[in-house]
Amino acid sequence: MQETVQATQQEALAAIAAATDDAALEALRIEYFGKKGRFRAFFQEMGKLSPEEKAQAGQYINAARTAIEEALTARKEAFKASQFADLDQKEWLDVTAPGTRETHLGRGRLHPLTQIQYEVEDIFRSMGFNVFDGPQVEDDFHNFGALNIPADHPARDMQDTFWLTNGRLLRTHTSSVQVRAMHAHKPPLRGISPGRVFRYEATDASHENTFYQVEGLMVDKNISVANLIYVMKVLLREIFQKDVEVRLRPGFFPFVEPGFELDISCLICGGGGCPVCKHEGWVELLPCGAVHPNVLRNCGIDPTEYSGFAFGMGLNRLVMMRYGIDDIRHFQSGNLEFLEQF
Ligand SMILES: [Zn+2]
Repeated sequence: MQETVQATQQEALAAIAAATDDAALEALRIEYFGKKGRFRAFFQEMGKLSPEEKAQAGQYINAARTAIEEALTARKEAFKASQFADLDQKEWLDVTAPGTRETHLGRGRLHPLTQIQYEVEDIFRSMGFNVFDGPQVEDDFHNFGALNIPADHPARDMQDTFWLTNGRLLRTHTSSVQVRAMHAHKPPLRGISPGRVFRYEATDASHENTFYQVEGLMVDKNISVANLIYVMKVLLREIFQKDVEVRLRPGFFPFVEPGFELDISCLICGGGGCPVCKHEGWVELLPCGAVHPNVLRNCGIDPTEYSGFAFGMGLNRLVMMRYGIDDIRHFQSGNLEFLEQF
């Protein structure tokens, strides 16, 4: 038996020396020391021996076992050491190598219209305004009727509207949201309503069928056009980071009285004339005025007690002015080369 054990030990040590990885060592461990392993068999055989032989056998079997276990442990340690020894060869990384387009995941960003909308919201919040939201599909009352634009009023011809088959429409301005706000809240009321609006319109460099607006409203006792001008000047100064020249021209809009067109000097050409300002040096930025008494009345507010101002402004045009963009159609083009500039 002693010879068998010694032969087994030699065989095991040779196999351990020849093993190339941890898995091979584990297979050997099971082969020799597992539940059905070779050493289990030796110990079973040992039970049949006489007491003197048993003591002797115990010694050489244990010696062989210890030798094999030590060889397994040593080989395992050697594997671990070599694994770390060539780590710098296997897993090196050149941190100075330029990235490739294929592996570069594009970072998302906010659309320039969203960016300016958030900015405008912050500016108005700093002046105590609320931000109101409302539906894009509107009914006739909120988009036209309440705003002093009755069914037979010629102003409806000014609005080229997308009408839906159910008699509703895609809102042509976010004034509809202000109507809802005035019904929901009693004055004093300060609010803006930013959002997407729709016009049935031929597109060119300065016209789109879908664009973004922010409309604003302030209703309280003794509100006048002076309040409006102040708020507009604060807004433009914050947006463009400089004082912007403005002018008011009389303008007719059914929902304001008196009504104005507020123009700003063209920031693209500096007033010299370009396609965006139609070579006039001024850009029509927004209609505004004192809220018409009929509108207040339609929204449940007593015009003998309260007055207000209102304005509506195109966010697209603000972005175009700030970055010198000469074509409004870029915004909805889906052109990533355009969008990635912001
Ligand atoms: Zn211009």
